Amino acid sequence: MTAPDRLEVMHRTCAWYREHARDLPWRRPGTSPWAVVVSEIMAQQTPVSRVVDPWRAWMHRWPTPAALAADPPGAAVAAWGRLGYPRRALRLHEAAREMVERHGGEVPGDLAALEALPGFGRYTAAAVFSFAFGGSTPVLDTNIRRVLTRVEDARQFPPASATAAEWRRAQAWLDTAAGVPDPPPAALWAVASMELGALVCTARTPACGLCPLRDRCAWLAAGRPAHDGPPRRTQAWHGTDRQCRGVLLDLVRTADAGGLAVDVTRLLVGWPEPDQARRCLDGLLADGLVHQGPDGVHL
Ligand code: SF4
Repeated sequence: MTAPDRLEVMHRTCAWYREHARDLPWRRPGTSPWAVVVSEIMAQQTPVSRVVDPWRAWMHRWPTPAALAADPPGAAVAAWGRLGYPRRALRLHEAAREMVERHGGEVPGDLAALEALPGFGRYTAAAVFSFAFGGSTPVLDTNIRRVLTRVEDARQFPPASATAAEWRRAQAWLDTAAGVPDPPPAALWAVASMELGALVCTARTPACGLCPLRDRCAWLAAGRPAHDGPPRRTQAWHGTDRQCRGVLLDLVRTADAGGLAVDVTRLLVGWPEPDQARRCLDGLLADGLVHQGPDGVHL
């Protein structure tokens, strides 16, 4: 794709976003960097629609890193509720502690410092740098990667995980915009392309007829050829260790809300496969998501 074509795609995507973006509370003016951090960690592996209410409750209870760091990690796990992948709650708590200990209780506005925080990979650091601080850096989540792959590579799906070539390409798009008159702001391009991927250029049913990029999209021009790469990972759930861990953690969380621990034997019969239940409980204990005391298992 030529540089003018890339610029046109960026401008159109930003214009589309201004008109069609969802009104998510962490996108409103005045949102603190900490609130952006919480939204990013929560939305990593959970649909945004399921994040809004827990995010509000979380921000009400812990409006600053210091507020979260002052509570025990188990409180974060309890408040994580049904967002899934609860290790994120522990990592967020660790990150809050590190912000207090090393960054004066603030979210650092430096990309390298963000990337060094617990639970922050390259994507999360870039997203916070961009969305909370307006920084210019490539942001590559699954939605943005899908849009770029379709628009420029004429392929239905990107590789399973972001490659170095994709990061270089994302930087090249930003470089294209640098120095031109009236450039699309990097942070706006990041959130806009992410939103386009989430709402229009979706994985299964892209709404090309509604897309502002439909006359610039290589995949659409090629007749939307089917994916011919390696089989894509499916999000198995029923009967998996992930489901089992969720069931066990829910039982502990419910008891913990009443100030009780759960007897191990009672806990293990909460799942029909005893060996799997034992293995998953051991995993929860090893991860620090639950703890075993004389009365039983608690958060
Ligand atoms: S035209 Fe279709 S495939 Fe191309 S970016 Fe838009 S929604 Fe995605």
